[in-house]
Amino acid sequence: MKKQDITNIKALLSNKNKIVIVPHKNPDGDAVGSTMGLYHYLQKKNQDVIVIAPNDYPHFLKWIPGESTILKHDLQTKMCNNYIREADIIFTLDFNAFHRAGNMEHMLAHSTALKIMIDHHQAPDPYATYMYSDVTMSSTCEMVFNFINMMGDEELIDENIATCLYTGIMTDTGSFRFPCTTSETHKIISKLIKKGANNSQIHNNIYDTNSFEALQLLGCALTNLKVLQDYKTAYITLSQEELNKYNYKKGDTEGIVNYGLSVQGIVLAAIFIEDKQEGIIKISLRSKGHFSVNEMSRAHFDGGGHINAAGGKSYLSLKETVDKFISILPSYKKALTNE
Ligand code: 5GP
Ligand code: MN
Repeated sequence: MKKQDITNIKALLSNKNKIVIVPHKNPDGDAVGSTMGLYHYLQKKNQDVIVIAPNDYPHFLKWIPGESTILKHDLQTKMCNNYIREADIIFTLDFNAFHRAGNMEHMLAHSTALKIMIDHHQAPDPYATYMYSDVTMSSTCEMVFNFINMMGDEELIDENIATCLYTGIMTDTGSFRFPCTTSETHKIISKLIKKGANNSQIHNNIYDTNSFEALQLLGCALTNLKVLQDYKTAYITLSQEELNKYNYKKGDTEGIVNYGLSVQGIVLAAIFIEDKQEGIIKISLRSKGHFSVNEMSRAHFDGGGHINAAGGKSYLSLKETVDKFISILPSYKKALTNE
């Protein structure tokens, strides 16, 4: 972010503003952590602030300080639209294009509020007046920390803010193991622990609250795992029938795709999850090294993300989607096997 942008934002925040903060649809740990971290900070700056999520998020995020104040646009549409209409400033966090906010797309695109983007996804749309976009960042939470620091307000970071930001950095870095984790990330984490983030408790809240049925579903997913050695690729499918059998709840499939990547020598992993209600197959792609799943998802699966983690969707059947995936692998063979 430019120095001049920070100067301008400082001037803006010297008055009280109506501020709406928005994460992407199906918010994850980084989306909820970053929006709530910024929420607590802006409250301390005496702003009139609310977080509006396009829809609900998994149970394992429902302890993050202040998260019960988050409005869900799909459930409270009228009230949310009023907030958006009246907003002076809208912060969009952890996404790069209005369509990533699901049904909020139209309201955001037609809003006259000043927009500020904080995000680490590839190829951002240039809708924001002030744009803090950096694809080298581990997480939007790391960027919110930097934003507060650039604003000269590091001393305002308290236990609540630290807990929110720690959560998103932890989830987006796979507990500090993905290549996006830098020495700078660890320096920030160190500061957040000093400010009161309880690292062990946060890890427990996110990762050790599985239901028995969620683990049975994981067992089913692992049984369905297929490995295509020639392409250093592994993939998992979960049909709607299988999800129903194990009483699937939002969040139960989070992270399962990574098991494919844990097979020795695998460079590309995918999971295909049938969603009969939305009429789509939700796709998650993960990779190791230089193989860009962002590119693959943009080119074939109506999605995007980062080099090593991307999402997408397909309107074909589960089987047809997997067939399509297998059929495009030969065109990536060189990239997959040169790793
Ligand atoms: P996931 O597989 O967990 O849904 O997504 C992996 C990463 O890709 C996340 O950072 C997520 O925000 C991003 N992502 C998921 N779906 C899309 C999409 O349709 N478009 C873009 N640009 N990014 C996506
Ligand atoms: Mn993120």
